[in-house]
Amino acid sequence: MAIKIRYYSTNRNLTGVEGVVPFKGYVSFRDALLAGQAPDEGLFMPDTIPTLSMDDVMAFKGGDYRETAMLVAGAFLRDEMPSDELKKIIEDSYNFSIPIERVFDRKYIMRLDQGPTASFKDFAARMMARLMSYFRGRGKRLNVLVATSGDTGSAVGEAFKGISGIDVYILYPGGEVSGRQKKQLDTIGGNVRTISVEGKFDDCQNLVKQAFSDLELDHLNLTSANSINFGRILPQIVYYVYAYAQLAEKGEEIVFSVPSGNFGNALGCEYARRMGVPVKKLIMPTNENDEFPKYLETGCYEKVSPSRACLSNAMNVGHPSNLARFFDLYGGTVDRTGIVHTYPDPDAMRENIFSVSVSDIVTKQTIRRVYDKYNVILEPHGAVGWRGLEIYLEEHGDFPLCVSLETADPAKFPAEIRELLGITPMLPQGMKDIDKRTGKPLELPGDYAILKEYLQDNLKIRD
Ligand SMILES: *Cc1c(COP(=O)(O)O)cnc(C)c1O
Repeated sequence: MAIKIRYYSTNRNLTGVEGVVPFKGYVSFRDALLAGQAPDEGLFMPDTIPTLSMDDVMAFKGGDYRETAMLVAGAFLRDEMPSDELKKIIEDSYNFSIPIERVFDRKYIMRLDQGPTASFKDFAARMMARLMSYFRGRGKRLNVLVATSGDTGSAVGEAFKGISGIDVYILYPGGEVSGRQKKQLDTIGGNVRTISVEGKFDDCQNLVKQAFSDLELDHLNLTSANSINFGRILPQIVYYVYAYAQLAEKGEEIVFSVPSGNFGNALGCEYARRMGVPVKKLIMPTNENDEFPKYLETGCYEKVSPSRACLSNAMNVGHPSNLARFFDLYGGTVDRTGIVHTYPDPDAMRENIFSVSVSDIVTKQTIRRVYDKYNVILEPHGAVGWRGLEIYLEEHGDFPLCVSLETADPAKFPAEIRELLGITPMLPQGMKDIDKRTGKPLELPGDYAILKEYLQDNLKIRD
């Protein structure tokens, strides 16, 4: 018999924090997915982590990614949805390749950059979009409202494109996104609308927050699709299990290196280990936002504020949102402002996790050196990951089987790659026609009253 998994809040044990009433209850996956975060602003966590047998994992050696996805997602969802429905969602989500390239010996790069927006965020966003559509309830239309400064918005927008029963509204700061990003966002079309806001990213985020807390908009079925939704963590467990099945001998240990910003990707690896994949070490290299490696070194956590602007810009995070989940798994509590209420067991964490900060200078050197030596093209995020792996091996001695994740396509960083390598990387298939696409955003001032009126007049709530 399968155990029914329920979800609790990482803030359930908070006491004496003004304005926070700890949520002590449990919800289903469906409710966690549709709510996004717990009522006390904590993050939802599964109360049981299902385990996979080594035979189950290895059964898909040489197999299709989607088979492993069924195994992993099925372990979490089988009490809440029929497996043929889950199968449809998975087949529809993962229609692109997941190349694992050998760099040298048994050291590999896994490229998670072949989806429609050429970033690993496609893996999570595509599955979450389809799960939301499935779980939304009969005849109900959901309205996803997101603020973005770039990559997440296009991954979410593309993921929801054409998904039935859901409309998406993406707010972005008109003056702050790059030309190509703007193009990517504005031309998705269909059920995905963009709103170019006069202001900064923080203004967009505040507008979205106000809309979510506005009781007069309660009837609009607003929902978020942000990175703290457990529906985005679950799909990110799969590729660790998949890589293990493809590369390892049965029972062998493996090292993963995951370039980290908000720690959602690395959390997928932590769950994969707890599900039964023998992960010797999870390496979580960061860019110059070094709050986490410092914490592992000193045992004392201090967020970086304001966050530092680095080349690997999707990792410019001074207080990772999913740190609350890591702390919870190791017995601690940290709130969303970065205050630690209970410290986790640092030794248990150090046993499983290694982290190091990689500077922009070293990131650039790594891109150049890896290309010269191995003829492998990395972009800044992947280079932080690879360098983190190298540092771990230098400090701890060689380890046979290692996989470093490449989280974006180098073609998304044409200027950096041209400067460092003197070549122009080819745009991935899904982005080839990008400059020819057309589409316009709605333009709004950064004024909540105007946004509210627009939402009230335009959002549909029935299917
Ligand atoms: C979001 C992102 C990351 C960081 O992932 P987290 O889950 O936030 O740690 C790394 N690389 C790229 C390209 C990203 O878009």
